[in-house]
Amino acid sequence: MKNIPRKIYLQENEIPKVWYNIVPDMPEKQAPFIHPGKLKPVELEDLLPVFCEELAKQELDETTRYFEIPEEVREYYKTFRPSPLVRAYNLEKELKTPAKIYYKFEGNNTSGSHKLNSAAAQVYYCKKQGLTKLTTETGAGQWGTALAMACAYFEMDLTVYMVKVSFEQKPFRKAVIQTYGANVIASPSDTTDIGKKILAQNPGTGGSLGCAISEAIEAAVKTDNCRYVLGSVLNHVLLHQSVIGLETKAAFEKIDEYPDIIIGCTGGGSNSGGLMTPFIKDKLDKKQSPYFILAEPVSCPSFTRGKFTYDFCDTGNITPLAKMYTVGNGYIPSANHAGGLRFHGMSPIMSKLYHDKIIDEARAEEQTSVFEAATLFAKCETILPAPESSHAIRVAIDEALKCRETGEAKTILFGLSGTGYFDMNAYEQFMDKTMTDHIPTDEELEAGFASIPKFPGIE
Ligand SMILES: *Cc1c(COP(=O)(O)O)cnc(C)c1O
Repeated sequence: MKNIPRKIYLQENEIPKVWYNIVPDMPEKQAPFIHPGKLKPVELEDLLPVFCEELAKQELDETTRYFEIPEEVREYYKTFRPSPLVRAYNLEKELKTPAKIYYKFEGNNTSGSHKLNSAAAQVYYCKKQGLTKLTTETGAGQWGTALAMACAYFEMDLTVYMVKVSFEQKPFRKAVIQTYGANVIASPSDTTDIGKKILAQNPGTGGSLGCAISEAIEAAVKTDNCRYVLGSVLNHVLLHQSVIGLETKAAFEKIDEYPDIIIGCTGGGSNSGGLMTPFIKDKLDKKQSPYFILAEPVSCPSFTRGKFTYDFCDTGNITPLAKMYTVGNGYIPSANHAGGLRFHGMSPIMSKLYHDKIIDEARAEEQTSVFEAATLFAKCETILPAPESSHAIRVAIDEALKCRETGEAKTILFGLSGTGYFDMNAYEQFMDKTMTDHIPTDEELEAGFASIPKFPGIE
């Protein structure tokens, strides 16, 4: 038996020098974004009023397999990377499983999640273009924090439209974002036309990610020297997040192991995409055939019950149309659902890979069962996991328990995308048993699907 250490660390100089773009290797590419006015695929100049040029180019790039990570970004990465790959010995023992469980831990920075990987890159390119201001939205707050951190480091002004329920329920999250110097506005707000319109229609609304996106884009377009940045879903975000999977592969090489099963939680698909795409390349190259599982909440079941079709990325319907698995841009997940997996859509790349069965499976998990897994994991492995990440933990535990039944010693890898210190309300609800599992009815899903736009010839 090999003596594998609990933590498999890389050296600082082993932080990847490139990001991996899977698009050139996809047997069939994801469908292009469609401009909702022109009803034609989005071109570079369509994106430039909203996005920084280099990021827009990365977004549309279907031929460059590897992008060099700028030295300045690698320097910043060194403050929180390489992140450890951890062998979950204690969890294995607790589960009495012959399976070997590994997790890649991305929560070891103040934002508490993988989102800093892309925030650093995006802010760097915006700065390089000479921009001075950025806008974005944040739901659970991790992206807002990550971006505020990167903006403080690269010296950029930032306005964060924070979904009103989070703004009210997570005052400390807001305070962290402000500590890093960003301006936080509860969304919907009266600072934008779309915000005013949504407030007029629904004065008591707690807001949604889709609505905050609409406000952030409007503010970016109306402000000089300002652009909008997004923390998930888009191709360039998956590109930056590939640093997760590339490091994981390098760490596995050191111990001469390779995962049989790879699990990631999916809100917009960026941490799972970042973890999986370098391994998907091995599958496409017919070198390895790991089994890929995506974990999502039953309350926002984009992959497992959604439609694979063109939809807007925001409630205000001002973004390009993306072909993706979606429960509809007007879908409202149940209010008590914890965590940041509430986005209605999904990365077009991950959607296509799943649709083409290159990603094998998606599973929807119920909230209480996710928190059971989270609590067990916290006790065994000492890290308090984010509710989002705990969807992946749930699936990993279930797979390890299957191994206990069959006696197979499979190697299971999951992405531990972040920590849950700001989610203690949800942990409390779980402990005092007020947490409920809302499985949306078909009628509720139909109401969401009804918001999916219909344009002639586009589906
Ligand atoms: C934002 C977030 C997610 C979900 O976003 P993806 O783009 O799907 O990765 C998952 N886990 C954590 C900790 C997050 O902050």
